[in-house]
Amino acid sequence: MTDVVRGFANSPLNWPAIIMFGLTHGLVLTLLPWYALTHDFSLAAWIGAAFFMGATGMSITAGYHRLWSHRAYEAHWLVRLPLMLFGAMSLQNSTLIWASLHRVHHKNVDHVDLDPYSIRRGFWFAHMGWMLRDYPSAELDLSNVRDLEKDPLLAFQHKHYLGLALFMNIGMPLLVGAAFGDAWGFLLLGGLLRIVLNHHFTFFINSAAHWWGRRPYTIENSARDNDLISLVTFGEGYHNYHHLFQWDYRNGIRWWQFDPTKWLIYGCSTLGLAWNLKRVPEFLVQRAMLERQFAEARLGLEGCNHHPTRLQALQTLLQHEVEAFGAIMGEWRALQTDRFEAARKQIADTWENSEVRRRLAHLEESLRMQRKRVRLLRLQSV
Ligand SMILES: [Zn+2]
Ligand SMILES: [Zn+2]
Repeated sequence: MTDVVRGFANSPLNWPAIIMFGLTHGLVLTLLPWYALTHDFSLAAWIGAAFFMGATGMSITAGYHRLWSHRAYEAHWLVRLPLMLFGAMSLQNSTLIWASLHRVHHKNVDHVDLDPYSIRRGFWFAHMGWMLRDYPSAELDLSNVRDLEKDPLLAFQHKHYLGLALFMNIGMPLLVGAAFGDAWGFLLLGGLLRIVLNHHFTFFINSAAHWWGRRPYTIENSARDNDLISLVTFGEGYHNYHHLFQWDYRNGIRWWQFDPTKWLIYGCSTLGLAWNLKRVPEFLVQRAMLERQFAEARLGLEGCNHHPTRLQALQTLLQHEVEAFGAIMGEWRALQTDRFEAARKQIADTWENSEVRRRLAHLEESLRMQRKRVRLLRLQSV
């Protein structure tokens, strides 16, 4: 019914996208294997392709996504210029269009009619299907990217997108390839193969990262954390975290999580080329995880068939933990008030470094300990 109302069923085909995907996929399945069987690729062509892969992939993750869609940090034009150029090379539309749709995705995530790449319309729709027709859910309205239109680099890219995209995908690999004596090798590996791989790797964030993986921070939406997807998406696989804390410049927040986009942004900041890197305080992360565990423990206790006395004991324990959590949150709110007061009296600097840090570290530790206890409690209800 909603299909008919919103016009999904009869949406016209999006021919430019169909032709582009048809061409790139058709050629990668025919021309590339034929060329590989009849010619040799130079080592330079492979290295060039790897470089273009990294540059275009990170332009989407560090540029289109974290810098522009979410404003998770700010960057010097020396960083923004290559991000804009290689972003055009990734053939995913102009930054303004990409960021506009992405902001709509976050606002209406999982809504079957309003999320442009809603996973509720199926894996294929979220992966690529949404681009093959002019669906009403992806109707363009750039009013949500007015802040980005002010950046002359982005305005330029939007205006000259087609020319830039063609030059970066065909002209550039041919020119660099010619300099290394392997123009065709560069075009086929660094242009064609790279674009097909890069497309699918990025599309996995909308499909697989909303389908497959764990949800440690929230079950309010379908986004998942998935280490495997992170390996091919330059760190964007920690999508459950990202959907809850979208303004954080990190997606993988632990040291062992593979998030090269975070490392690149941090690296730029140490050189003075990026600043205002936004990070969600660890306390809020711990709080989200604990709230998620409480919900799971409650569900576990509801569904278990322990002896009534044992069940009662576990429920009392859980109740104690909920009360302890409430007390910690009360202390945390008091700390925020004290902090505000210190800032008002302009004694924040000295105070921040000693008192606040000590109290915050103590509260964070309390939440960590509590998470361990609630996990144990949850295990007992199985
Ligand atoms: Zn998402
Ligand atoms: Zn996002």
